[in-house]
Amino acid sequence: MNAPAGQKPITAPITAISHWIDGKSVSGSGRVAPVYNPSLGRVIREVSLATKADVDGAVASAARAFPDWSGQTALRRARVLFRFKELLDRDARRIARVISEEHGKTIDDALGEVTRGIEVVEFACGAPHLLKGEFSDNVGRGVDSFSLRQPLGVVAGVTPFNFPAMVPMWMFPIALVCGNSFVLKPSERDPSASLLLAELLAEAGLPDGVLNVIHGDKEAVDALLDHPQVAAVSFVGSTPVARYLQSRGVANHKRVQALGGAKNHMVVMPDADLGAATEALIGAAYGSAGERCMAISVAVAVGDQVADVLVEKLKQRLARLRVGAADAAGVEMGPLVTPAHLARVREYLDIGVHEGAKLVLDGRSHSASAPGGGFFLGPSLFDAVRSDMRIYREEIFGPVLGVVRVADYRAAVELINGHEYANGTAVFTQSGAIARAFVADVEVGMVGVNVPIPVPMAFHSFGGWRNSMFGDHHAYGTEGFRFYTRLKTVTQRWPEADALRAEFVMPTMK
Ligand code: NAD
Repeated sequence: MNAPAGQKPITAPITAISHWIDGKSVSGSGRVAPVYNPSLGRVIREVSLATKADVDGAVASAARAFPDWSGQTALRRARVLFRFKELLDRDARRIARVISEEHGKTIDDALGEVTRGIEVVEFACGAPHLLKGEFSDNVGRGVDSFSLRQPLGVVAGVTPFNFPAMVPMWMFPIALVCGNSFVLKPSERDPSASLLLAELLAEAGLPDGVLNVIHGDKEAVDALLDHPQVAAVSFVGSTPVARYLQSRGVANHKRVQALGGAKNHMVVMPDADLGAATEALIGAAYGSAGERCMAISVAVAVGDQVADVLVEKLKQRLARLRVGAADAAGVEMGPLVTPAHLARVREYLDIGVHEGAKLVLDGRSHSASAPGGGFFLGPSLFDAVRSDMRIYREEIFGPVLGVVRVADYRAAVELINGHEYANGTAVFTQSGAIARAFVADVEVGMVGVNVPIPVPMAFHSFGGWRNSMFGDHHAYGTEGFRFYTRLKTVTQRWPEADALRAEFVMPTMK
């Protein structure tokens, strides 16, 4: 494959990334897509895009593996995951390097992502306890009742580019330990990390076919959504795709959890420590170049005085932000993932200026943003953003923070509750009363109090409200166990042989 016009020529041969089906690497049979190293600004690999036939092969493999895997004890399944966790610890740095190479986040940031994924694996190892059912003794004379949770069968996961290891690990450790087999369709933009995970699972002793990885785009996703043997689909990605995937999946009678996009607000109250709030905002807005679903993209300053100080402090700190190649020492912010995404984020800077927001800092004039290198954009900051502007309403998913000025706490909460997205939010204050009111008043799935990115730990669950999530069960934690199992309730009697008689009235427990 040739590099697109304007890209540097390729010096090394391009290696194609294959699918992982039935415990081995399987070449694709159809189209391919480029995979970039965004720090270098050039194509380094290509990835196979699965056809419907490739998807059918992966699902068939998972369906063959399901009876034996689901028939094993939860303890045995947990032991495979325990070995997987040890291998992840061993290879965390290798995985982080691959993530950083294809995504553009710094190696330390990628290591943090792997760590958060490992935490879900650790949680999943508690399956023997978490899968315990409920039992009621003697609900009628000589009658007991109990409930158990059973796996669904073949389940699928469709994941985004921004966490190529962590988001798949929100899904498959819990799905597998519950006894399901799994087909993962990772993002085609940074597909390599998912294969490392599949190889480590095989090394940990996971039987062939229990986890399959197919690369691809809409064609592969549609094939999963329409496949009669896929019982459930977990999705994380943008809202339009989440909405589409949920409606098509549900129409095909599948269980679906679809986590979508975000516009996360951080409220800064007049009593907040503005130094600490500035540092928190910098990390939360510009870490991973703003390509996080929990990134803060709106700072809600309560009162003009707070806004003026905040903007000035942000400007000073952002001038020192170190932007550069993801693997270079000391770099705080890497490039954006692809040239198309870079162009889209740059366009929002024009849109914001056109709409009348004040562009305090223009990332396009940052020295790292010079054309011809990687897909870099320096940090950008808008002040005087209004709620009717596109730069406020739409998810930009880049290193662009907007400051909205409001008069008081009530206006801040109304602003947040009026937005279509409701993934995460935070308040910075020293008042316990305000913090407590905020937790109660704000209609958002995940809330931080003096914590800018309140991503729940693995033993809680992750999910937004409104257009940030479609479906009922949030991801991982105990919600994950519920999503990947279905409830069966048994009522049993062991009568004496001569007590069995036909009954024609509605059974009641006498
Ligand atoms: P995306 O929606 O473009 O892609 C996500 C997945 O869907 C990929 O695997 C992709 O191949 C597939 N896909 C893309 N278009 C499709 C289509 N038309 N039909 C079927 N499948 C399709 O998202 P992305 O750009 O990879 O990731 C960024 C988005 O993900 C942002 O909106 C971000 O907020 C969101 N995100 C949300 C969460 C969350 O937990 N809510 C977490 C991470 C990312």
